[in-house]
Amino acid sequence: MESEITFENINLFLKNYPHKKDSCPHNFTKDFEQIGNMSDNSYGFLSYLDFKTEDQNEVFIGSYPYNSAKLWKCKECNYLTFSYTNDSGWGQLVPLKIDFNKEYLTEPANKSVSIKPINILEFVELFGLTELISPENISDYPGTKLISKNKTSIFRYKIQKTKSGDTINFEIVANRDLLRKIAAYEQKQ
Ligand SMILES: [Zn+2]
Repeated sequence: MESEITFENINLFLKNYPHKKDSCPHNFTKDFEQIGNMSDNSYGFLSYLDFKTEDQNEVFIGSYPYNSAKLWKCKECNYLTFSYTNDSGWGQLVPLKIDFNKEYLTEPANKSVSIKPINILEFVELFGLTELISPENISDYPGTKLISKNKTSIFRYKIQKTKSGDTINFEIVANRDLLRKIAAYEQKQ
């Protein structure tokens, strides 16, 4: 594998990549090798929320299913493609064509959060997510959402009963710095 391309350097890499046209009758995945991975394991379990951007010049790959996309290069002509896992069927690996004229957004991102009820007030105080005080207003989130850049949103609030005690679960959309801080808080509860 070549130097690993990640969500952090993907746009710079695509911008400077010299082989923007496919020029051989390649077959995915047979003729390709993986050279990058858009996964980010730095903030724990990822969410299954599905987002898109309203800007035609952007492709959003910060959320499921593209947040774990892989980057592949044709060994013959060096043409690039993403792949992601289509798990509506049999978990098939499918190519996602790259448009070199577009920007690939990787922020905000999202994650599933699990907080003990006893900690929820402290959590709100630390992170300012006051929606959690009136959870009846939190959306259930049907379908695909348009992303609002730089905005933090909470969806799918529910209280889960487990043997070791209840947990408050929700999905959050935010920048990765905040998601990492929340993941650290989850760990030390
Ligand atoms: Zn090729």
